Amino acid sequence: MSVKVATIVQTIEKIAPKKLAYDWDNVGLLVGNPKGETDKILVSLDVNEQVVDEAIELRAGMIISHHPLIFKPIKNILWDNPMGAVLKKLIQNEISVYAAHTNLDLCRGGVNQALFEKLGLGHGEILKVESIEKLFKFVVFVPMSHVEQVKLSMGNAGAGWIGNYSHCSFGTTGIGSFKPLEGSSPYVGRTGEIEEVEEMRLETIVPEKLLNKVLKAVIKAHPYEEVAYDLYPLANSGEEYGLGLIGIYTNPLSKNEFLKMLKECLQAPVLKIAGSLPEKIEKVGVCGGSGGTIINNAAIKGAQVFVTGDVSYHQAQEAENLGVCVIDAGHGITERLIVPIFASNLDNELQNQKANVEVIVSKVNNEPWTYI
Ligand SMILES: [Zn+2]
Repeated sequence: MSVKVATIVQTIEKIAPKKLAYDWDNVGLLVGNPKGETDKILVSLDVNEQVVDEAIELRAGMIISHHPLIFKPIKNILWDNPMGAVLKKLIQNEISVYAAHTNLDLCRGGVNQALFEKLGLGHGEILKVESIEKLFKFVVFVPMSHVEQVKLSMGNAGAGWIGNYSHCSFGTTGIGSFKPLEGSSPYVGRTGEIEEVEEMRLETIVPEKLLNKVLKAVIKAHPYEEVAYDLYPLANSGEEYGLGLIGIYTNPLSKNEFLKMLKECLQAPVLKIAGSLPEKIEKVGVCGGSGGTIINNAAIKGAQVFVTGDVSYHQAQEAENLGVCVIDAGHGITERLIVPIFASNLDNELQNQKANVEVIVSKVNNEPWTYI
């Protein structure tokens, strides 16, 4: 049994919504056929010829990588250059490639959260908020006989989730009236006559991403041919998405404890440190990959230490001036933690859909740096 590539894409984007990606990025299905099918997916940080060979050997029909294989516009596909050779091999072997890049950086449970949790930090707050989910008030009018059924369906679809509470709603009763017209097939009442029914005005809150799901569930559970509902945009803020996280150690660590833990957790052969490390480390910011551009956000939020990768000379100087100790542990080293986590999340989602597909973590080491 295999699964459609399009189904896998939908599932990936449930975990890492594509709309979270930056405009400059190139995420999504980069190579392949959405209508194609596969029963094995290989997950890796990058796509290079070794990863493609691994996929061929495993008979995996799809590779999901964090870094996009195609990033800058391609002007040619020449078989004797690395990009051309990889594309040729992918197409010859009918292997699809999907990139979950900045959408996987910015989503919940993504790259930054993996790093944050690995370092044992708690009470996370986003360093640079990029978007806030819109919330809607959803109101539906339900005859008394179907209130419980509709309430349950909309709650199960994700409406009315507030903090640690689910299925929140409010109901007021009143009289609904309507006149079924020619061609209608009313649940109650007669064509051409005004009907009055005792109904409940059920109201709840729904995040934008769940609007369609909730609406479908309500329409399915509601007995009327035409369901009367209203949607109001709210000024309340929904979930935040953004780059980097900052958190605290409830039991602050000494300088040495922190460095030892950091090297062990990340299996980092070397750490580059700009600025001075405080004696007691309590508040730490993280950004997997290349986080040099948000050093200022870490400073504003009061980070004593900021752990990231790919920090430039001038960014390191900026950190020193801002009084933040920046630790550059390496781009891939601060990101690669996400690969098995993402693979496992994807596997769980696909299993929930009863999709018979195997998700495999790549064994290829893409780290280009050697430290001597
Ligand atoms: Zn990266």
